[in-house]
Amino acid sequence: MKELKDYKEIIHTCSKCGLCQSVCPIYLETGNECTVSRGQFIMLRGIIKGELKMNKNINKYLDLCLKCGKCSDFCPSDIDIVEVILSAKAEYFKNSLEGKLLSILQSKPIFNIALNTARFLFGHQKKFKKKFDKKAIYFGGCIETVLPKTSEYIKSLLNKMEIEVLDTKFNCCGLPFLTSGNITRFVEQANENVQKLKEIDFDYFITDCASCEWTWKEYTKYIEDEELKSKLEKIEFKSIYDLISESNIKFESKKYCKITYHQPCHEKNGEKVINIIKNIENTEFEELEGFDKCCGFSGLIKPSTWKISSKIINSKKRNLKKIKPNYILTTCVGCLITLSLITRLKARRLIKFLDKNCNIK
Ligand code: SF4
Ligand code: SF4
Repeated sequence: MKELKDYKEIIHTCSKCGLCQSVCPIYLETGNECTVSRGQFIMLRGIIKGELKMNKNINKYLDLCLKCGKCSDFCPSDIDIVEVILSAKAEYFKNSLEGKLLSILQSKPIFNIALNTARFLFGHQKKFKKKFDKKAIYFGGCIETVLPKTSEYIKSLLNKMEIEVLDTKFNCCGLPFLTSGNITRFVEQANENVQKLKEIDFDYFITDCASCEWTWKEYTKYIEDEELKSKLEKIEFKSIYDLISESNIKFESKKYCKITYHQPCHEKNGEKVINIIKNIENTEFEELEGFDKCCGFSGLIKPSTWKISSKIINSKKRNLKKIKPNYILTTCVGCLITLSLITRLKARRLIKFLDKNCNIK
């Protein structure tokens, strides 16, 4: 597993052009150089050289990074910026009290007890036994455990599209471990998840959360077992929204309503998702100003980053006030938490809205 010092040469290729500033959602809001890759690389270079010590303050800036990768898409030096920032997070995690406490809470036995308890209390699911030629694995992540009704709806949609859903049981994708810098635990989770697919033949790997899909795609950078790696490389990832757009399924809202959409930073299928939303009959769609700008969640709302998070949330709130929708739809659980708890709006995951508020035509 690579450490921060192993990225010395890569960090050195940063030409300080500043292009990352023009796309970083956090920098655009804060104007603070320490919150964007260029500034973070200057700090990390200092740490590698031994001129700076990793500390709480630097960690605070690392935490603000959304790991959205928008900066990498524009970086002329072609740096995988998120990978470098995560290695710096791992450095802090390894040497801080916060990291030590978190590693106990995130340890496999404790994490699994919490998940299995939630599963026992709420996670009773119907079996989907219909057979079709095309076969899919559905990964609902932690949400499937606590909100089984939504995953049942997704599975029934898949059956409508003549896709068989194979019976597999996963835990978390590991994103909370990765973003907190607990790389050892992340690798353990990634290996465990891919191991479950080793003996299964399937056509699609389906998710409905943009962040889960992003995390699964990150596995190849961290898994070392060649057999698991080659299994991963063959997977055809599809979001449920890809499949809906490729199908003839149409939706109609049971009650007329005005809707808008917040695009999560990890959503790479934004256009398809917006088309699905625009085509829901008996609704009026209005585009939210800055719909593709961060919700402020920043991976995890923390007291240390609260000031900047609330600044971002407030600008989202102001934009929502201008259009006053009945519902704000999104495709990431993290964004949903921010939008519903902090803005107190009727926020819904798109899939849940389709399930509860719409009829299929
Ligand atoms: S875009 Fe890339 S090369 Fe340019 S300053 Fe940002 S990280 Fe450095
Ligand atoms: S990954 Fe996203 S939030 Fe992080 S520095 Fe790059 S653009 Fe900014």
